[in-house]
Amino acid sequence: MKVAIYPGSFDPITSGHLNIIRRAANIFDKLIVCVMVNAGKSPMFNLEERVDLIKRVTADIPNVEVDSSNELLAEYAKRKGSCVIVKGLRAGSDFENEFQMALINHNINPNLDTMFLTAEHQYMYLSSSTVKELGRYGVVLPEFLPEAIIPDFQERIKSNLQGGK
Ligand code: ADP
Repeated sequence: MKVAIYPGSFDPITSGHLNIIRRAANIFDKLIVCVMVNAGKSPMFNLEERVDLIKRVTADIPNVEVDSSNELLAEYAKRKGSCVIVKGLRAGSDFENEFQMALINHNINPNLDTMFLTAEHQYMYLSSSTVKELGRYGVVLPEFLPEAIIPDFQERIKSNLQGGK
């Protein structure tokens, strides 16, 4: 069984992420979407919330599993019996960084390869940080977030603004 890992911060999951998930789930027998702990970022949604949001929007895709981890990605993949990491590649911004990470992960675990799916053109410039930035100005573009989580996002923006964040 070919198991692939799709890692990220998913703070929150966007339509761009969901598009990659659907396409990767068509290619592999099982896709594990893993929310990685990133000590450097202070997230809008905590780890459990992000996992829950992803579970809700992927509930209709039977071969998708959602998990979280604070391990090194190469170690996590080995533990899960996976030899493929899936990454989305957006216009310009992702290439250098992703290339470097793919080489590092392959060095740490030579059985591990990274496969890139190009972003769909309408999501080429979409990132979670753009969605959050727009949200702070009261703009929620419905095509950027999975419909089911828009109320959660609006609620969080509202409470953050009230809390002065
Ligand atoms: P973001 O950069 O939006 O904060 P993450 O750090 O959670 O997202 O990214 C997880 C993975 O999803 C990365 O491989 C990233 O390149 C990919 N990704 C993010 N946004 C998109 C998008 N709009 N289209 C395709 N892939 C994307």
